[in-house]
Amino acid sequence: MSNPSLLILAGDGIGPEVMDQVKRIITWFGDKRDMHFDVSEDLVGGAAYDKHGVPLTDETMAKAQEVDAVLLGAVGGPAYDNLDFSVKPERGLLRLRKEMDLFANLRPAQCFDALADFSSLKKDIVAGLDIMIVRELTSGVYFGEPRGIHIENNMRVGINTQRYTEAEIERGARAAFEMAMKRNKKLCSMEKANVMESGILWRDVVTEVHADYPEVELTHMYADNGAMQLVRAPKQFDVIYTDNLFGDILSDCAAMLTGSLGMLPSASLGSPMANGRPKAMYEPVHGSAPDISGQSKANPIACILSFAMALRYSFDQGEEATRLEKAIEKVLADGARTGDLMGPEGGVPLTTGQMGDVILAALDASL
Ligand code: NAD
Repeated sequence: MSNPSLLILAGDGIGPEVMDQVKRIITWFGDKRDMHFDVSEDLVGGAAYDKHGVPLTDETMAKAQEVDAVLLGAVGGPAYDNLDFSVKPERGLLRLRKEMDLFANLRPAQCFDALADFSSLKKDIVAGLDIMIVRELTSGVYFGEPRGIHIENNMRVGINTQRYTEAEIERGARAAFEMAMKRNKKLCSMEKANVMESGILWRDVVTEVHADYPEVELTHMYADNGAMQLVRAPKQFDVIYTDNLFGDILSDCAAMLTGSLGMLPSASLGSPMANGRPKAMYEPVHGSAPDISGQSKANPIACILSFAMALRYSFDQGEEATRLEKAIEKVLADGARTGDLMGPEGGVPLTTGQMGDVILAALDASL
């Protein structure tokens, strides 16, 4: 059988810096765990614009459709801020998500004990936190028609439309139930069924899909209450399933419970391909961080944890994903810190490469 294929799109700013550390980890899994990947690399974002005049070429898009998983670093930067909207670096990312039809966005919020002090919440509320938000990514109010700004009775009116078909709700719900089955079998669906018809349909469809996952404990919550509960007692949740708009807000809120942007991975999954693997793209939540790019200051952990998600959700290597996550937990517990993780007590931060070194050493020690 051929090796699983990976397309690396490192992008701009700190993207290539953090991705270099992921490449070392991939090599480690080949050398030490006999897990080999066919890795190819290409350009996205500003880097693609500089070479080809577009943030993603058709050839790169076609490659992304063929591989088992895409790993993306970050796109954007001040050099591209004044470009026309159609060729801005972010358009490359949006094209990938749209054409791969990545409808389920997975945003874990996990608090490593060693970093619990970084949260804006009390340590005991976040220590050991491990929740997963599944956000519907391709529909809802960001895409619904009609939309726009027009004049009515001499006044400007802004319109966006929340629109969901039952098929859209259902496919995301299945992804969320599957996720719950791989975790603690608890799913909380969030909408505003009290004031929105699309919320009523959402609740009905999720309840119908539940019939296929009787082992999962399903609850429903209004999204505004969900926001309150996330900051009051986040550990009550395992998997949360919600729409594009609420998910945008709730996932950022949940993620920040855990501290630095440099620690947050994500995955976006689509429908299964012929080989049974879902279309998938894995990327850190952070951007290209122009303020620190080129200085070896970036924390590579978000990008490395994104690769751990690829191991778990694309390649069915849950144990190896856990090995990698435990290695990261270990180095943090031992005090390894990049600049973004330095507390008031100070100290000398590790460079991006040094953080890669200690994680590789912890992986070696795990054998
Ligand atoms: P950002 O995430 O790039 O940076 C925000 C802050 O967090 C900065 O101070 C940065 O130094 C810090 N930071 C981010 N990642 C870090 C890491 N791994 N290690 C240490 N510190 C880290 O967001 P921004 O500054 O608002 O945006 C910069 C550029 O990135 C913009 O062009 C924006 O459009 C783009 N962007 C891209 C993505 C993406 O590629 N998915 C996401 C967000 C922003």
